[in-house]
Amino acid sequence: MTPISPGQHILIPGAGLVGSLAGIWLSKLGFRATLLDKRSKPGTPGYDQSRSINLALSHRGWKALGEIGVHVDIGPVALPMEGRIVHDMEGRTQFQPYGRAGQAIYSVSRSNLNRVLNERASAEPGVEIHYRTRATSIDIERHQVFAETPEGQRTYHGDAILSCDGAFSAMRQAFQTSDRFDFSQDYIAHGYQEFHMEPTATGDWAMDPNGLHIWPRKSFMMIALPNPDKSFTCTLFLGWEGSEDSFAALKDAGYARMWLQDNFPDFCARVPDFAEQARKNVVSSLVTIRCFPWYKQRSLLLGDAAHAIVPFYGQGMNAGFEDVDILMHMLPKAKTWEGLFMDFAKARKPDTDAIADLALANFVEMRDKVADPLFLFQKKIDARLAALLPERWVPLYTMVSFTSTPYSEAWARGREQERLIRRIMDLPGVEERYLQDDWLLDALSRVEFGMVVTR
Ligand SMILES: Cc1cc2nc3c(=O)[nH]c(=O)nc-3n(C[C@H](O)[C@H](O)[C@H](O)COP(=O)(O)OP(=O)(O)OC[C@H]3O[C@@H](n4cnc5c(N)ncnc54)[C@H](O)[C@@H]3O)c2cc1C
Repeated sequence: MTPISPGQHILIPGAGLVGSLAGIWLSKLGFRATLLDKRSKPGTPGYDQSRSINLALSHRGWKALGEIGVHVDIGPVALPMEGRIVHDMEGRTQFQPYGRAGQAIYSVSRSNLNRVLNERASAEPGVEIHYRTRATSIDIERHQVFAETPEGQRTYHGDAILSCDGAFSAMRQAFQTSDRFDFSQDYIAHGYQEFHMEPTATGDWAMDPNGLHIWPRKSFMMIALPNPDKSFTCTLFLGWEGSEDSFAALKDAGYARMWLQDNFPDFCARVPDFAEQARKNVVSSLVTIRCFPWYKQRSLLLGDAAHAIVPFYGQGMNAGFEDVDILMHMLPKAKTWEGLFMDFAKARKPDTDAIADLALANFVEMRDKVADPLFLFQKKIDARLAALLPERWVPLYTMVSFTSTPYSEAWARGREQERLIRRIMDLPGVEERYLQDDWLLDALSRVEFGMVVTR
């Protein structure tokens, strides 16, 4: 066992979102950190920005960034999205709030966030970032990382290692080849392709920037998030295979043009070069990665390296930032690296499993249910109960996106609340009476205590 003492040197393969935050925080706690990233420095030639352009930042992410003061750099360029803006086939829109008035998730640019975090990390006295340095393997026994650098092979030594090198973590390979390491990788049947929607000819937003736009089409969907330059990044989620609704079918340029126009007419009207973009823009896959244990001796997997999830709850980065928040709050009280990593991972794993499941379930909600009148009615009762019983009743989306309620607890409570609402929806006259406070509270107590009067 290795005692923890300030001044020790921590290696962090991966200077992305999670690794950079961890490096800054370690420095503030009095440790030294060396971050290794295969990419070029943000803003320099060769910097690869191939992954999605903007991300939804919500409470958990803001909280972690706020703890080390980074939120002040992000706040001015984060665009609030207070609800879903759902587009039907005729281009009519409906606004569905995410929570109470004033509650919002925020569209932030991935590259901006990465740049700010990298700059903040570089400015820390205890942190060094080595760019164009690809970590290739790890010696867990000797707590060493081997890397390819522009100058050739190099071996880095640390007192502990936090591997933050993303979903396809090279560091995890060493864990995978060791005994009793569980690992699963599940690709969903859908991929995604991004489109860019420019501002209008007069330089204005092409759509309302105050929400996350969704075109739900049952088995597939498009979404759009606003960017500070008044453009939108739109993402099409569609099955890989199939003869009609699939990326395979869209390989035929003529079919792609017709299909996009048929399914997203108002989107196509705002993106004149949509067919060209469909032909050129890359299609990427979506994966859930689960593994355990995340710790071996003085090494720990963190962020996507430990738990990559599909993006439908907008929580992957938020969960990774929360990992760092929790770990760094445990660190000052911990005695050994081995003990810290084990305690953190065991406590955290049920929550990252829960958000992985929630993210998969939310895909069905986004692409299908948001256009279903019964589902919308369920949401109205949910919101009504939350307003009447604020201490007791918190909608699932609110718990996940606007609180730090552990994901597993949020999910369990959310399932129970949904069960109760469904039983209320079976009561006679519910459509007319749910807005009467006394009736709704009485209905809740009746369904909770099993005295349900069904139609
Ligand atoms: C389409 C899409 C949309 C998403 N939307 C959201 C959203 O709205 N909200 C949200 O919270 N999350 C979202 N996510 C998830 C989010 O992108 C990830 O959870 C987040 O980026 C994880 O951060 P990370 O630092 O763990 O990994 P990454 O961001 O992947 O960073 C890993 C870093 O490690 C470096 N690296 C990789 N391999 C090596 C190596 N061998 N050696 C050295 N360096 C290496 C990489 O260059 C990178 O800098 C989305 C994901 C996708 C795919």
